[in-house]
Amino acid sequence: MIKKILVANRGEVAVRIVRACAEMGIKSVAIYTDADRHALHVKKADESYNVGPDPVGGYLNAHRIVNVAVAAGCNALHPGYGFLSENPQLAEVCWRRDIVFIGPSPKAIREMGDKTLAREAMIKAGVPVVPGSEGNLKNVAEAVKLAKKVGYPVMLKATSGGGGRGIRRCNSEEELRRAYERVVSEATKAFGSAHVFLEKAIVNPRHIEVQVLGDKHGNVIHLFERDCSIQRRHQKLVEVAPSPQLTEDQRQTVCALAVRAAKTVNYENAGTVEFLFDQEGNFYFMEMNTRLQVEHTITEQITGVDIVQEQIRIAEGQPLSYRQEDIQRRGYAIQFRINAEDPKNDFLPSYGRITRYYAPGGPGVRTDAAIYTGYDFPPHYDSMCAKLTVWALTWEKVLARGRRALLDTGLHGVKTTKPYHLEILKTPEFREGRFDTGFIEQHPELVNYSIRRPPADLAAALAAAIAAHHGL
Ligand code: ADP
Ligand code: ADP
Ligand code: MG
Repeated sequence: MIKKILVANRGEVAVRIVRACAEMGIKSVAIYTDADRHALHVKKADESYNVGPDPVGGYLNAHRIVNVAVAAGCNALHPGYGFLSENPQLAEVCWRRDIVFIGPSPKAIREMGDKTLAREAMIKAGVPVVPGSEGNLKNVAEAVKLAKKVGYPVMLKATSGGGGRGIRRCNSEEELRRAYERVVSEATKAFGSAHVFLEKAIVNPRHIEVQVLGDKHGNVIHLFERDCSIQRRHQKLVEVAPSPQLTEDQRQTVCALAVRAAKTVNYENAGTVEFLFDQEGNFYFMEMNTRLQVEHTITEQITGVDIVQEQIRIAEGQPLSYRQEDIQRRGYAIQFRINAEDPKNDFLPSYGRITRYYAPGGPGVRTDAAIYTGYDFPPHYDSMCAKLTVWALTWEKVLARGRRALLDTGLHGVKTTKPYHLEILKTPEFREGRFDTGFIEQHPELVNYSIRRPPADLAAALAAAIAAHHGL
């Protein structure tokens, strides 16, 4: 039985995991760096421990974190997403120290975390992959030769890449030659691996991914798909479940492919199989994320399954709480990633004090955030500051609810992507549910919104009153 969990993460996902623990009667333990002393996850967990002054390094030291888990009497660890979540070493250290790792086996993390190995495994299993490299590229000459064979445009990708980084589209041999060394050096710096591979670039693709759950008894089910085609620089901004762009047949096809992919690697715990969906209706396996994903909330809203609680039960060795036929989907959900960024200034991160925060509510509205009025949003981490998830029975209604909930959200002191999301919601493509990964690039005008602000003196008086109220 899992009795006490160390949450090896920060921000909204750490809060999310603490909430799951609280509902299951499990104690939670937070870790925090000096920069995160006043972070919400520290206040919400049952106990919390300082892991030092290095703002990022503190969350990346597997041995130290597991030492804290052992010292605090934890018998399990949840890695969240980002940081060490896809690092097989953390899973191994946990195993050696008798701490249950809430995630897949180190072997599955290794096999699927490496995009080249994952492609090979999928080819063997008969899951279609994007045409491209067999194994990693040896040099630029091999890249050029292969690109000629599959045809331009091509995508040059870091084998251990993630978070939209280490990917470059090349439209010609000249571009490929120029990009090669750059992607190799970026990959080495960001991911500690110089390995790169190449894929044909799918034209105007939709990003369709399937949430899967597997237990230790060989059962694997899917929780339907998410459409994450609204992306900026290969990073997701808005996610929708189910995809308004699939027929029921296409949905069954992609979900079955995902289950096959997960079964091939004996996958256990929660994972996501990502596909590209082309204009001819073909699905191509792209990668598998061997962890909880940022956008898991929309799947929870349409299926009613608490994915984090299910992860914990799976890690305990319990069989899945659901058979495939128990999973019913209902309505539509949209998640907006509200980032502390200025859309009008090339999405430059905007850090500083949150002078006022009011989380929206009402029917079908869920917020996952780790901010509060008076919180200093730190510059060291991801710029995502709140996730807004809305649910409604129909696509029409979820659009209206999204707009209402965004307008209902009060988030002041830093610039955010909230007004930008309102602009996305206005476009005919989004409203009609037909958009591909080129959407944001095709809509540079979305940054031309104007915000009505109270007169400067009134705003200053309000901020001062709030600060006084909180004793800041
Ligand atoms: P999701 O589909 O969950 O959004 P992302 O790939 O966008 O997945 O990653 C989620 C989080 O994890 C982001 O904060 C991202 O920056 C981080 N992340 C993902 N992969 C890596 C990686 N290989 N190295 C560092 N950070 C990563
Ligand atoms: P990450 O690990 O950073 O999430 P992915 O391999 O999942 O990297 O790719 C991120 C995004 O880049 C995809 O969602 C898609 O928009 C784009 N992309 C990746 N590969 C291709 C491809 N072969 N053709 C077209 N777009 C691609
Ligand atoms: Mg991806």
